[in-house]
Amino acid sequence: MRLKLTLLGIVTVLATAFVLVAHSKAVAPPVADAPASKTVLVIHGGAGVLSEAEMKAAGLTAQDFEVVLAEALRRGYKALQSEGGTSTHAVEAAIRVLEDSELFNAGRGAVFTSDGRIELDASIMQGTMTGTGNGKRDPRKRAGAVAGVSHVRNPISAARAVMEMEGSQNVLLMGDGAELFTLSEPVRAKYGIERVSNIYFWTDRRLKQIREQHAKSEPKKLGDAGAPQLKFGTVGAVSVDAKKMITAGTSTGGLSNKRPGRVGDTPIIGAGTYADDRACGVSCTGTGEVFIRHAVAHDVVARMLYGKANVTDAVGETMKAIPDEPGGVGGLIALDGSGQHAFGMSKNLDGMYRGYVTEKGEVFVGLNKGEMKRIKP
Ligand code: ASP
Repeated sequence: MRLKLTLLGIVTVLATAFVLVAHSKAVAPPVADAPASKTVLVIHGGAGVLSEAEMKAAGLTAQDFEVVLAEALRRGYKALQSEGGTSTHAVEAAIRVLEDSELFNAGRGAVFTSDGRIELDASIMQGTMTGTGNGKRDPRKRAGAVAGVSHVRNPISAARAVMEMEGSQNVLLMGDGAELFTLSEPVRAKYGIERVSNIYFWTDRRLKQIREQHAKSEPKKLGDAGAPQLKFGTVGAVSVDAKKMITAGTSTGGLSNKRPGRVGDTPIIGAGTYADDRACGVSCTGTGEVFIRHAVAHDVVARMLYGKANVTDAVGETMKAIPDEPGGVGGLIALDGSGQHAFGMSKNLDGMYRGYVTEKGEVFVGLNKGEMKRIKP
């Protein structure tokens, strides 16, 4: 009898333990960086993050960055969900939020040229590639870009106008010509493009940055050899919609203390931005000259198309192949048609402002290398 009771006791304890373990598994919180659902929009706010001390000196906190990244993801997601919303709407909406923030090196928070002006670059590309069946590329594959604009509040919308506006026929417009076209009444009205004074872009933080760079080195150098450019701050986004069209976009003020007229990789299709529905969309940030020389954005796509790599391996291999550049190099984001995203960062950087939103609307953001954080609505 006593033996029976003891056995019954052991069985009861084991059964209770089993139920507890099973239950705790069922209610365990999801791992932050492994969402059950697919990613529909991924963004970056530049590779290389401010250290805690630098943030403090600038009167900023990590939370300031997280809030804007989350807002960009929510706006992009909303654009994707709205009637007729495509990946292009999502990319444009997300980037406009980042351009309007002082925190990033694009639009309002852009860095100065060596002679104290703001010159902005942006590009956008749709990866439409359903194939014509005869081995030819899809003629609907489209891209648009602007370089060196100084009075366009949201250069990403100007890039979109160059890509889409009836009669545009161009891929890249620069300087005055880009402004003449994108600020002309029909284009401006259709794409919500606002003309602003160059002073609109001037912020105390960037003014301090360029003054310090001038104090340390000769102006008119490309970048500043004495002060490595490891905090880039360019912004970008990649989205995939219900029709599996991928769009990628990037927007920047370039490198701080850049020579007037210098254009980096951001508006160069294949270097800073690329999209192909058969592979993925890519947006880059970093030392533009390196990204142009190595056609970095297209390199990721090519590894998937011709090398049959998945998006994670393609990004890893591309990043590994980028040569080291003293005081430079950067990172990228990529998203494939099945909703898999990947982040790439050169090893000399300690992080990248980044985030993604899943098809269910779950928002994740991250700054430093490592796990990302779920932001509750
Ligand atoms: N890639 C940009 C450029 O070279 C800079 C950046 O990413 O911050 O213009």
